[in-house]
Amino acid sequence: MSEVIGLLQQLIRTDTTNPPGNETAAAELLREYLEPAGVECELYARVPERANLVARIRGTGDGPSLALLSHTDVVLADASEWKRDPFGGELIDGDVWGRGALDMKCEVAASAVAMATLAREGWRGAGDLVFIAAADEEVGAGFGLQWLVEEHPDAVRTDYSVNEGSGERIVLGDRVVYLCATAEKMTSPFLLRVLGRSGHASMPSIADNALVKAGPLIHRLGGLTVEPQLLPEVEAFFRAALGSVPAPVDALAAAKALSPLAGELVEPLLGMTASPTVVRASEKRNVIPAVCEVTIDVRLLPGQSPAEAEAALRACLGEGDYELVHLSQSGGTRSPIGGRLWDAAESFVAAEEPGAALAPVCVAGFTDSHWVRDAFGTVAYGFFPSRAMEPEVAARLIHSANERVPVADVELGLRWLLHAARTVCG
Ligand SMILES: [Zn+2]
Repeated sequence: MSEVIGLLQQLIRTDTTNPPGNETAAAELLREYLEPAGVECELYARVPERANLVARIRGTGDGPSLALLSHTDVVLADASEWKRDPFGGELIDGDVWGRGALDMKCEVAASAVAMATLAREGWRGAGDLVFIAAADEEVGAGFGLQWLVEEHPDAVRTDYSVNEGSGERIVLGDRVVYLCATAEKMTSPFLLRVLGRSGHASMPSIADNALVKAGPLIHRLGGLTVEPQLLPEVEAFFRAALGSVPAPVDALAAAKALSPLAGELVEPLLGMTASPTVVRASEKRNVIPAVCEVTIDVRLLPGQSPAEAEAALRACLGEGDYELVHLSQSGGTRSPIGGRLWDAAESFVAAEEPGAALAPVCVAGFTDSHWVRDAFGTVAYGFFPSRAMEPEVAARLIHSANERVPVADVELGLRWLLHAARTVCG
């Protein structure tokens, strides 16, 4: 059995369910594996049981540096839902089973083995090659990459980084495309506060029921449509998948014609979305509410501002007795499409599968990549290629029961990381 599969099994057997995390066990396992291979390792921990590991092969000059970025924590697994032990790391019919197999101990193991392999060969790049196995990505309570970026910026600052986020192989008509996540949407929730006047529920006419007034406003939000626009990422996706770029109004139909998966992928990328999700009004059955608050989950395209979103929401809601409050914002970062890391991914795909193309994608959620994009301007991509497992199958296993990863995909990912290190650090 290959080295990377053995290490993946050990990582899965190290329970790092977050909360509470206990990522130090994984960080120490990785250090014990890497140091004998000659890789410099350092553990950084805000609290002793939640260590991050940063390992480094120093460059010979000041060439470009690359981080292999990953997280060691996993989400909860309910063993009663699983066909196998979620912390068993069993190898069955070519798949390694267990929590974290896909998200993302496969890439942790591949990154560590890439480091050890290069160190044993005596390889050194012009710039540093850095392996960051961060804690606490799944909860984000401030023990992981966010904390490293703030407290130990020199340890984690690189020109480029490779992380989770994408890498799926999809077939679109007669074309094969591997997806590379170069951008992410921004989460920018709003609170709609509808105003009325309270009163006794037995005499509705003396009051002005804010909950009733909220009804039509919520209904309007449900029908929010925005002028479709094409992000550079979506244009490049179409160019790779179709050979041409449709007009923005035709983009959704063009994506659906390629495949249902392409339709699902492109639809949230054509504009902002707004979903009312939480309503609060009276706490008492017999009191007519003076205020009704509706939380609206709003997702913006990278580059859009909360002010633009507010204007669109107000245009949709029209006149009325309400206030609209912007709650917060996070994510929404992007890296340029092109350059050393892009070229590395493109040449890797071309060598692994002649004729296949690399296409950028903007992800609807977000990963740890946004910390390094924001803090250092790192060119950060989510790219860990997979092709043995269908993307629809993988999407249903992540954070769910019976998570498993094909050995062939872990080995493909390892080949990619070795290629990335050799070509980017030069
Ligand atoms: Zn993850």
